[in-house]
Amino acid sequence: MTPPHIVIVGAGFAGHEAAHRLTRLARGRARISLVNPTDYFLYAPLLPEVATGLLEPRRITVSLTGTLPGVRLVLGAVDGIDLKSRAVSYTNPEGMAGALRYDRLVLTVGSVNKLLPIPGVTKYAHGFRGLPEALYLRDTLVRQIELADGARRDEARARTTFVVVGAGYTGTEVAAAGVRFTQALAREHPGLGDVRPQWLLIDVADRVLPGLDPRMGQEAERVLRSRGVDVRTGVSVAEALRDGVRLADGSFVPTRTLIWCVGVRPDPLVAELGLPTEKGRLVVDEYLTVPGHPDVVACGDAAAVPDLTRPGEVTAMTAQHAVRQGRLAAQIVAAAYGHGERRPYKHHDLGFVVDLAGPDAVANPLGVQLSGLPAKVVTRGYHLLSIPGNRIRVGSDWLLDALLPRQAVETGLVSGAAVPLDSATPETISPAAEPATG
Ligand SMILES: Cc1cc2nc3c(=O)[nH]c(=O)nc-3n(C[C@H](O)[C@H](O)[C@H](O)COP(=O)(O)OP(=O)(O)OC[C@H]3O[C@@H](n4cnc5c(N)ncnc54)[C@H](O)[C@@H]3O)c2cc1C
Repeated sequence: MTPPHIVIVGAGFAGHEAAHRLTRLARGRARISLVNPTDYFLYAPLLPEVATGLLEPRRITVSLTGTLPGVRLVLGAVDGIDLKSRAVSYTNPEGMAGALRYDRLVLTVGSVNKLLPIPGVTKYAHGFRGLPEALYLRDTLVRQIELADGARRDEARARTTFVVVGAGYTGTEVAAAGVRFTQALAREHPGLGDVRPQWLLIDVADRVLPGLDPRMGQEAERVLRSRGVDVRTGVSVAEALRDGVRLADGSFVPTRTLIWCVGVRPDPLVAELGLPTEKGRLVVDEYLTVPGHPDVVACGDAAAVPDLTRPGEVTAMTAQHAVRQGRLAAQIVAAAYGHGERRPYKHHDLGFVVDLAGPDAVANPLGVQLSGLPAKVVTRGYHLLSIPGNRIRVGSDWLLDALLPRQAVETGLVSGAAVPLDSATPETISPAAEPATG
């Protein structure tokens, strides 16, 4: 008998963990294929450290073949799933089409930048979901400070004003790290005179870190304000323009940098399946199984997994849930072949960490509120334990950063056109990209 073929689509937190667990459970009794557009797992929580020059980009990319022996990596983006004939079609990075038949499908395609119908935003804002976007932002920060040096005063002010929309954990971390990075850059440019980098953090919610414990938000806001970040809550963006951004309260902020961190939405592949969704996420039961399709499990950001600890709710889009669901997905697939019993997904939140750069962080491991150095130690320890590879490399970059000034140079490898906000694949450079001219 030919061994069953298990196809996992998406090698993020959920997919990587599912593949890892399945190889251990299957022990050669199943073929496991993993389809992903890149040959690495991206540790997204450290993207702000890449965007601000602390970590080298490859530190947060973990080799799939290196960490998943026994799994066949299929490089490509899935663009169609035929649930009747149990086949997925994909396009590889060179544009060639391919197809795979499966016996069991694990769908873990994650999420992409969330868009809002605000004029000018898709044209002038850039998201923060993938490595190309983080590299683009790093270059942008360096370049804007360099171009501001010697520019007319009003132009210099606009170039050194950076606007982050969305005060969730991503936007808060980007603003907290970005303000320190650009302040250090500005010190190397005496031509700026008294023009100093200004950061604005904007959210329609009435506080920073709206989804987390209010005490974390208060402490994060205190740290941000102590660094000079202009935190504006309860206000939204009305229009993005080439030379600035207009807010809903009528104020206009001249800027060349609009960083869009308003959240994420499920990968567009989910909508294309034509199956029931909840807030865009694929509906699954507590066994991560798609109703009516016992051979398909889905989890992570892409799936609306019922949260049995909060009846009526679905689990949040976090790495913590994605990893645990990926592990359970492997057990559920193995149980379908008589290996172990399937059990429902039930996981209590273990807390959250938010790195505020420098010596600051906020965290609430197991409900214990931490800030300052203790939170920083917990945050870094958590990331080192959670990243499935490259730990020594990440640790060495942290050590080097404590000892040496950052290398503040542009690489010019990612142009703005290469990272459109409205992208189904923020993990890769857009094929519509023009040559990297900045
Ligand atoms: C900047 C940032 C910081 C974050 N910080 C934290 C944090 O501190 N703590 C926390 O808990 N969460 C954090 N998150 C959220 C966390 O990263 C997500 O919840 C988590 O990645 C979800 O895991 P996933 O496996 O569902 O999706 P992902 O990890 O996004 O993986 C999805 C994978 O599917 C691939 N894929 C997409 N479409 C296709 C396709 N059509 N075909 C094949 N492959 C496809 C993608 O390339 C990717 O590899 C952060 C997110 C970001 C962007």
